[in-house]
Amino acid sequence: EQKKAMNPQPRVFDQTLIQELKEAQDMRDGLQSAISNKSLFLCYQPIISAKNGNAVAFEALLRWRFSDKLVPPTVFIPLAEQSGLIKEIGSWVLHRACIDASQWQDHCDASVSVNVSVMQLLDDTFINDLDKALLTSGLAPDKLHLEITESMFADNKKKVVEQLDAIKQRGVEVSIDDFGTGYSSLSQLQNLSFDTIKIDRTFVANIKQGGEAIIRATIFIASEFGCRIVAEGVETEEDAALLRELGVEYLQGYLYSKPVEKEFLPPWFGDGIDLQRKLG
Ligand code: C2E
Ligand code: MG
Ligand code: MG
Ligand code: MG
Repeated sequence: EQKKAMNPQPRVFDQTLIQELKEAQDMRDGLQSAISNKSLFLCYQPIISAKNGNAVAFEALLRWRFSDKLVPPTVFIPLAEQSGLIKEIGSWVLHRACIDASQWQDHCDASVSVNVSVMQLLDDTFINDLDKALLTSGLAPDKLHLEITESMFADNKKKVVEQLDAIKQRGVEVSIDDFGTGYSSLSQLQNLSFDTIKIDRTFVANIKQGGEAIIRATIFIASEFGCRIVAEGVETEEDAALLRELGVEYLQGYLYSKPVEKEFLPPWFGDGIDLQRKLG
């Protein structure tokens, strides 16, 4: 037993591994043509005001249909990053999301929130591309939020700060995604311009097992930095009630809606906002 623990078995180059490598290679090849063959598409998930239940934003979540299967973004985004394809794919997402959001502005004033990879953000063409997406869609810059994961502040700090400043100059908002799961220190965060902190869903899932303390601390940090707070992964009414009590202003999760193609977004979000307009 002990011997085994000290000498972990090296991974044998067996059939399963060969199969896995082949699948990864097939996916990399498939991704290459994913934009041109229209197998990429966006789903949207609402971010809800805890006060009145209106959707304040929709997060764009990328989907890829590959040989009759839906490959999860947690699988293909890293592949796209490794091959550098993320720049092209990320650009497609940004343009598509801005166009979609400019279209729903006719019925509702919710923003669109787009996930951006570190590799995409640090590319020299990113800001130019951002300007192009805003210009061609006609979307007001303050209706666009870019979600950047906390873990990306670990390296390339100077360049990240520069890029975020350039984004903010344009009036586009910045959200820190998966907050609490990365390794950035509070002093690092202090130098960054951002508008929203998104509490990672692992803390919401563990709200009764210690997550509450982290959520309270995050709410305190957000108020000190003067930024908004969104809790992800809200699955039950009980979670929502607890989060509301703690003072979380915005909620997102399966309780309200799974990510869906824009045609299938629940109609109530628009109604809510129209109603609010009529009342206001
Ligand atoms: P994320 O940005 O943190 O997105 C939240 C993930 O949690 C999404 O998974 C969403 O479907 C899922 N989720 C939302 N509500 C709930 C809930 O109540 N319960 C549970 N269990 N899950 C919930 P998804 O769509 O599979 O995306 C995974 C990750 O892939 C995203 O995490 C994001 O980091 C990345 N991603 C997705 N689309 C893009 C994209 O266009 N560009 C880049 N760079 N990354 C993307
Ligand atoms: Mg996100
Ligand atoms: Mg997130
Ligand atoms: Mg996440």
